[in-house]
Amino acid sequence: MARPRTTNPRDLRKSNRATALTAVYFDGPMSRQGIADAAGVSPATVSNLVTELLEQGAIVESGAQESAGGRPRALLRMNPDYGFVVGVDVGETAVLVEIFDLEMKVRASHSATPESPGLDAAETVEQILDGLDRVIAESGVDPALILGVGVGVPGLVEHGSDAAVYAQTLGWDGVPIGALLRKGTDLPLVIDNGATAFGQAEKWFGAGRGAEDAVIVLLGTGTGVSIFTDGEPYRGASSSAGEWGHTTVVVDGRLCRCGASGCLEAYVGGRAIVDRYDQLRRRPPASTGGDLVDRMTGIAHAGPADRSATKVMSETATYLGAGIADLINLFNPERIVVGGWVAQLLGAELLAAARDVASRHALRMPFRDVAIVAAELGRDAVALGAATLPMSRFLASGAEHPPR
Ligand SMILES: [Zn+2]
Repeated sequence: MARPRTTNPRDLRKSNRATALTAVYFDGPMSRQGIADAAGVSPATVSNLVTELLEQGAIVESGAQESAGGRPRALLRMNPDYGFVVGVDVGETAVLVEIFDLEMKVRASHSATPESPGLDAAETVEQILDGLDRVIAESGVDPALILGVGVGVPGLVEHGSDAAVYAQTLGWDGVPIGALLRKGTDLPLVIDNGATAFGQAEKWFGAGRGAEDAVIVLLGTGTGVSIFTDGEPYRGASSSAGEWGHTTVVVDGRLCRCGASGCLEAYVGGRAIVDRYDQLRRRPPASTGGDLVDRMTGIAHAGPADRSATKVMSETATYLGAGIADLINLFNPERIVVGGWVAQLLGAELLAAARDVASRHALRMPFRDVAIVAAELGRDAVALGAATLPMSRFLASGAEHPPR
């Protein structure tokens, strides 16, 4: 995380607290000396700020570490019960709400299946608010200790006070999701794109850890990427960067759900794959969300006797590989992480085939330097990533604003 430059003593104190807390969050348990090294401040400064954070209860002592020739050093870690964060994954197959403690352990989880095919905005808002009530009740967490609720949505988010969502594939044209949610909760909200939330989860805790230049691919019903350059997310002028699913792979190709033709998503998105399979089998197209995951599972486990499944898998790998080659040529990443429910179901075989295709389309030098790997986090990675949105704010504040 970038460290703000500052000379004002109050800002400096906040910045030191933020750096110390961030170090403990990512690399704890750790000693005072370890925090001093990470924060680049004197042992006396660390001693003061650790005392403050301990008194406040944001961190706790957790065992001790032997030190050469001296007294054992106390280790410090986050106090998991100091506060809680909620993550929401608004997906087309499910709306998942999870509450996490400060060590990112899930305390309660609730999933609802959308009833209407595609997402109805009013139904989605209701399912989020209902999920929120349920996880708070089930976990027994005092709502006053909730630092914030992160919501990962499909589509572009205009970061005003209403958090208007533009999801062209769903017919959401500026749905004020923030304003709608605030009618049902007064908890602080952070709303962002689901692929961005997923990217942050893989970057913080999964296969993207330690990579400064990385592209994290989310392959779900829709598809998108989150791009990290020099360790920081690349957002673009209006935060809409990463709409890789709507880059053109076939001029005048298949009609995409966004209204354009030949988009990558129309070839590698979850719905596109199942529709193509049905077309090969001459069956009517798939209908609702939950059904889509079952259908994809069927295709993944079909085996070589099902020639339609073999063909659709091979086509998917071809377009995915070409799309990955474009990412390599455009961004020269050191790592590309591929995840999302479609990637998870289609597995290592799809990734190996796509990697092979990418090697034939990408320029040799950047291809040589990139590792293309599977995501490491499970099915709730978008919800976890959404929970990191309020977590980021908490860390950056140096826990100066304790839970209400
Ligand atoms: Zn499109």
